[in-house]
Amino acid sequence: MKFKPANNIQDLQYFGEFGGVNPSISDSSTYTFLSAKTMFDTFEGNADGCYLYSRHSSPSNLYLGQALAAMEGTEAANVSATGMGAITPVIMQLCGAGDHVVSSRTIYGGTYAFLKNFAPRFQVNTSFVNITKLDEVEAAITPKTKLLYCETVSNPLLEVADIPGLAKLAKKHNLQLVVDNTFSPLSVSPKQLGADIVIHSLTKFINGSSDTMGGVVCGTQELIDSLRSVNDGASMLLGASMDSLRAASILKNMRTLHIRMKQHSHNAMYLAERFEKEGIKTVYPGLKSHPSHDLFSSMMHDEYGYGGMLTIDVGSIDKANELMELMQQENIGYLAVSLGFYKTLFSAPGSSTSSEIPEEEQAAMGLTDGLIRFSIGLDNDIERTYEEMKKCMKLTGVL
Ligand code: PLP
Repeated sequence: MKFKPANNIQDLQYFGEFGGVNPSISDSSTYTFLSAKTMFDTFEGNADGCYLYSRHSSPSNLYLGQALAAMEGTEAANVSATGMGAITPVIMQLCGAGDHVVSSRTIYGGTYAFLKNFAPRFQVNTSFVNITKLDEVEAAITPKTKLLYCETVSNPLLEVADIPGLAKLAKKHNLQLVVDNTFSPLSVSPKQLGADIVIHSLTKFINGSSDTMGGVVCGTQELIDSLRSVNDGASMLLGASMDSLRAASILKNMRTLHIRMKQHSHNAMYLAERFEKEGIKTVYPGLKSHPSHDLFSSMMHDEYGYGGMLTIDVGSIDKANELMELMQQENIGYLAVSLGFYKTLFSAPGSSTSSEIPEEEQAAMGLTDGLIRFSIGLDNDIERTYEEMKKCMKLTGVL
């Protein structure tokens, strides 16, 4: 039977302590033990079902982790305080001094900065490649390579990774394929396509209300146990653990993720088609003009669409700024970084979320000054939104 990520979330049932329809929140940072021996065993990792200290795990965090593992079809998952709090421990856990990473060059600016500027301090070096060219990816692999790293749909250029193709390469060279699926939850299930580890920034679509940070690593039970190990687990020791109150609120929001993703995708598709028809340079995986449209179509669960992210190029940063300021003034959306909110968000990535990437590298990857990244919101009347956007585009000379 076909893998159904939203059904898997729906089937998970948790009740609260007094029969509540939501699970009780574990409002404690530490836990009592009836015997000293059990405490010792728990430290040794031999006391299943016992909680120790909330940096290690808590019932609320485990519930959320289970729901995310069910969504991605992995054995287990570990939630963290932020998306970067998921990404950096995975890299540090799987790579030591002398190891090498092959990464897509178009990734979130923070991940890029970590691999480019921070990990080399620990002698973990990265080759950045054009992820859409499998021969270029393979050529960058060395005997020291441990990880292939990419985003399903990349931030901000919306390049699409060929996950089955990359998974074959990873198997052939005995590497772990790590996929950040933040832009395409439910639409694409990387593990089902051969990825080993799936990461999300929960801060974005999965939580969906721009009120909290969060992250998750989905993978084998062995990986998750190693990340949480009290002796040498990067998640446990680097310490970016999620708070239980937040885990409980994200779990509740996940219950509506399938409905939200359908609406984000519907609205983004509507706008992308209209923008393109007007002659604006538009990038959206749902458009036939997207170089990886067919690839994305072959990897996706159709019902959730091509996601809520699109970009347009308006020619210059001045024009981009003018248009974004006007759209905000007209209450079409907010001039803000991040994504996955009910309201449309827009920013110029070259000077914001990708500013960690040096200018010449931005140019080489096609990240232009006039690029505006949109996270399309849940507007009920997207036709009206389009008409309002068009007015702003006319007033600023974009149209
Ligand atoms: N991955 C992607 C694709 C992102 O866009 C971001 C943040 O913008 C992150 C990871 C980092 O997540 P967080 O900000 O929750 O640490």
